[in-house]
Amino acid sequence: MTVVRVALPVPLRQHFDYLIEANAQVQVGCRVLVPFGNRKLVGIVWQLDPNNSFDSNKLKPVVAVLDTDPVLPALLCQLLSFAADYYHYPLGEVLISALPALLREGRNLADYQPKAYQLTDNGKQLDASTLKRSAKQLALWQTLLRHQLTESALLQQYSRATLKQLIDKQLAEEIIVPPQPFSAPQIAAKGLKLTAAQAMAVTAVTQAFGRFERLLLEGVTGSGKTEVYLQSIASLLSQQQQVLVIVPEIGLTPQTLARFQARFDVPVLCWHSALTDSERLHCWLQASTGAAAIIIGTRSALFLPFWRLGLIIIDEEHDQSLKQQDGFRYHARDLAIKRAALHHCPILLGSATPSLESLHNALSKRFIHLPLPDRAAGQALPQFELVDLKQQVLQFGLASQTLAKIKQQLAQGSQVMLFLNRRGFAPALSCQECGWLTECHRCSAFTTYHKQSRQLVCHHCGASKAIPRQCGGCGSTQLKPLGQGTEQLEENLQQLFPDVAITRLDRDSTRRKGALHQALEDIHGSGARLIVGTQMLAKGHHFPNVSLVVIVDVDGALYSSDFRAPEQLAQLLTQVAGRAGRGSCGGTVLLQTHYPEHALLQDIINNGYASFARSALLERQQTCLPPYQHLAMFSAEAHQTDPCQQWLQQVADGIAAVATVQLLGPIPAPMERRAGKYRWQLQLYSANRSSMHQALEHILRLVSSWPLSRKVKWQLDVDPTDL
Ligand code: ADP
Ligand code: ZN
Ligand code: ZN
Repeated sequence: MTVVRVALPVPLRQHFDYLIEANAQVQVGCRVLVPFGNRKLVGIVWQLDPNNSFDSNKLKPVVAVLDTDPVLPALLCQLLSFAADYYHYPLGEVLISALPALLREGRNLADYQPKAYQLTDNGKQLDASTLKRSAKQLALWQTLLRHQLTESALLQQYSRATLKQLIDKQLAEEIIVPPQPFSAPQIAAKGLKLTAAQAMAVTAVTQAFGRFERLLLEGVTGSGKTEVYLQSIASLLSQQQQVLVIVPEIGLTPQTLARFQARFDVPVLCWHSALTDSERLHCWLQASTGAAAIIIGTRSALFLPFWRLGLIIIDEEHDQSLKQQDGFRYHARDLAIKRAALHHCPILLGSATPSLESLHNALSKRFIHLPLPDRAAGQALPQFELVDLKQQVLQFGLASQTLAKIKQQLAQGSQVMLFLNRRGFAPALSCQECGWLTECHRCSAFTTYHKQSRQLVCHHCGASKAIPRQCGGCGSTQLKPLGQGTEQLEENLQQLFPDVAITRLDRDSTRRKGALHQALEDIHGSGARLIVGTQMLAKGHHFPNVSLVVIVDVDGALYSSDFRAPEQLAQLLTQVAGRAGRGSCGGTVLLQTHYPEHALLQDIINNGYASFARSALLERQQTCLPPYQHLAMFSAEAHQTDPCQQWLQQVADGIAAVATVQLLGPIPAPMERRAGKYRWQLQLYSANRSSMHQALEHILRLVSSWPLSRKVKWQLDVDPTDL
């Protein structure tokens, strides 16, 4: 017997040793089934024969070795080990979370591999007359005598029962045929003639092939970033190298997928949360065998085991969905950069509104900066106009000049998009007598009134309840919706424009399967139309008939305590505005506000995102905020505030004793109560990554021994994006 060290998915920052047969064929990165307490767990072999093992008499044996080849290849193990260190998250949980669910559960990989059938030696030597009483078996036997058959080909002609009979007689056998790597594309549909800026970008990317390089494609909305991606990868594919494209939300932009599929005759696969477990495993296998050439996926596609990775593209690299916000809180952009370094391949980050982090890296020459300052087909960028809402009589939240402009555009047969980042009918119901508002009893928040589903829903904890008949304060029955959400805006617009078709795009309207697809089809069908929606509208859509975008209300977002709020708002406004004027009709954006003089709005409309971002960076530098300082955040939640505050104070004291890290807090989270729990936070700032790292290491070694650590649910977020 010898010893293996195994990483297990348990919230403990340690590995576990087990005994294994000395001649067992096991490698680092393979799964094993091991006893743990009174359970059996699937773990990952992390080290063979560790020399500092405990007394081997006390070790338990491995129950089963589940893989012959590692499910986590060496480079992926290195990436995940880096991630576990960087985010201070238990390695076992990180490793296991990188596997598709079926593998996490310990399923046998071979069961999901494509199969084929051939004759056994017995079968080959058989005398045909033996099978003369079964015509079906005889026919299958004769076919197999000529060549083996894949499972799918076999089942087209023969039944499973016939096959089973030959197998039972030991005349035929099952073999696994691993998928073959894709072949270089024979034909690629011809690309567009590139603009000069696009051509320079493509050259820069192709020159970086074969080595680690980071490139930022800062291209305004409609500048043809996707065309740059497509033309860059052509030569990679002919060298049989794979491409990973990470996108924010795949369902929202089926166009991107379609464009990749239409361009090259190679297998393009999708990876996203709507796949079933076996679809995920299929995609995982196609990535690992090289059968897939291009994988387009959401953030966790980052952990697929590529056969030969030649390039990583992150489209909309500023998008907040790249950060996982619970459990293992990694940032896909940062880990993708690490992954590219490990694979010695370039990574291309693309956005019209780059994150300040990436822009900082580009401006300080760590990244190659590739600007696309103009729209590809020569269209002008949309013109912003501010609509001052002060002292105006509004009709359904819209100023008279806004309504006039909408009418005018519809009359010309154009489409108009109205952006309101609040779904539901109204943000609350309010009592006309006493001013009482419907609140969530578990969160410090109001509950949104949903008229169609006749519910009050809390958008923070998901709790829903029936609409009350009476005011909870005075008992009056005069409850009225307060404020406007997309559901109400749609209803109001239908009153104003009874003959115009309206499409609403938000999480409620697209929940039903197929609804989003239908909505996108409707929009792409030509003709006058109103499109109402939330930030779903901001996600890379190319709707060529939209000539006018109305930003109905941004005032709530102008004043926020999160230092990233201005950046996020500028990105959102620029992206939404960027949906206007992408076709041949010019584009206008009307921005309604009570604060037309607000500096952020003025900067965005007069100078554009690029200018805003550069001044925002300067401000971050002056105030010592990321990306000029490293930030980490502990948060604690419990049913009372005291344990949260005390636990975080203990962390603060422990860190203050050792390191040059600045502390802010403990302070209540911006939304102090959520789903019935109080939430507090402690922010840590340091100019030096390694002192931050040491401080975190130090404190994490201590917390497990504190009795208070069992009274709160605590979390650590390294480089948090949501404060
Ligand atoms: P982005 O992703 O930068 O917003 P897209 O890649 O969606 O932009 O391109 C916007 C539009 O411009 C698309 O309709 C695309 O076909 C077109 N386009 C891209 N590159 C060119 C080019 N070189 N010449 C003409 N049209 C182009
Ligand atoms: Zn709630
Ligand atoms: Zn009341």
